Amino acid sequence: MPNTTLENSPNAVLNKSVAERYMHLPCPENKVKATYIWIDGTGENVRAKTRTVDFVPKKPEELPVWNYDGSSTYQAEGTNSDTYLCPVAIYNDPFNGGNHKLVMCDTYKYNKKPTETNHRHTCLQAMEAAKDTKPWFGIEQEYTLLDMDMRPLGWPKNGFPGPQGPYYCGVGANKVYARDIVESHYSACLYAGINIAGTNAEVMPAQWEYQVGPCEGISIGDELWVSRYILHRVAEDFGVIVTFDPKPIEGDWNGAGAHTNFSTKAMREDGGIIEIEKAIDKLSRNHLRHIQAYDPKGGKDNERRLTGRHETSSIHDFSAGVANRGASIRIPRGCAEDKKGYLEDRRPSSNCDPYAVCEALVRTCILDE
Ligand code: ADP
Ligand code: MN
Ligand code: MN
Ligand code: MN
Repeated sequence: MPNTTLENSPNAVLNKSVAERYMHLPCPENKVKATYIWIDGTGENVRAKTRTVDFVPKKPEELPVWNYDGSSTYQAEGTNSDTYLCPVAIYNDPFNGGNHKLVMCDTYKYNKKPTETNHRHTCLQAMEAAKDTKPWFGIEQEYTLLDMDMRPLGWPKNGFPGPQGPYYCGVGANKVYARDIVESHYSACLYAGINIAGTNAEVMPAQWEYQVGPCEGISIGDELWVSRYILHRVAEDFGVIVTFDPKPIEGDWNGAGAHTNFSTKAMREDGGIIEIEKAIDKLSRNHLRHIQAYDPKGGKDNERRLTGRHETSSIHDFSAGVANRGASIRIPRGCAEDKKGYLEDRRPSSNCDPYAVCEALVRTCILDE
């Protein structure tokens, strides 16, 4: 039987050993490729472009403010299109190596106001106000790999794989697809300097997860967005597509989330379970606000995923419980036993903006807004 997987993927069929010849050319000293990364007008896709700088940047403030054509990213009118890119965080570039850098940016309109999808701006204000409580976040990023025909990678072209069961944390060629991409991404994130905490195969075949964190404050958003850029870029090298859609396949297949684990200093100290319970009480009274912040379409994407089935809670109800994977909020068993630790908010969608999610958690649980 012919193997049809990836036959239409131009990036997969290019000969990578030819590219190696050029990637290993020596680079002049003090010439650095800086790849500026930003969130486009969809609020869920990343864009990037590269420029040369003639010094090795150590802090984002040292890098020039740049601009781009916002009319080509759903962020501006063609007649007034210049949109500003402001560097906010720097990472080592795992694709170019050497002194080359990845530069996370936030975006501003011609009038210096944040663009509609720049949720970092207000998130940073909330994080500054809550700084003394030392908020930590750890996000479990789930995603699905697709072939060029937009079907999950490795799935039969004219049918479906066997039912869910053997795939979660699976091992073996008939259980998991494209571990090469997963491991390459993991190594690339470590090289970049991202606090990647782990990875595992998910319940639906071709679905995977990695975790970023714990990170304190705004850095969770910066690191998660750059980890997503790295994932798209690694998969591009293999000719495979990454989707963060929260329900890529309808029917009896798990969706994808971005469980957000959250704690303050007080929650992490002895007896902190009291603080965790206080936070859950506040969350119970702000369910709608959180659902609106937890996907890029104000709750519409999560409507497809938060059905009350497939290890989710219903989008319409708030619930919390120890070790309960069918609740909005789960207290991990270990934290209940230790009477301290963190809570897990299971509602954020896989394509959420972590700046919006973490801002909502801080404003509800810490700032009492
Ligand atoms: P699950 O059991 O839900 O699959 P994971 O092991 O995938 O959990 O992810 C747990 C996440 O919680 C990790 O990203 C980890 O860094 C993060 N985490 C651990 N401790 C804390 C804490 N005190 N505050 C916030 N996040 C934490
Ligand atoms: Mn997990
Ligand atoms: Mn998971
Ligand atoms: Mn989880």
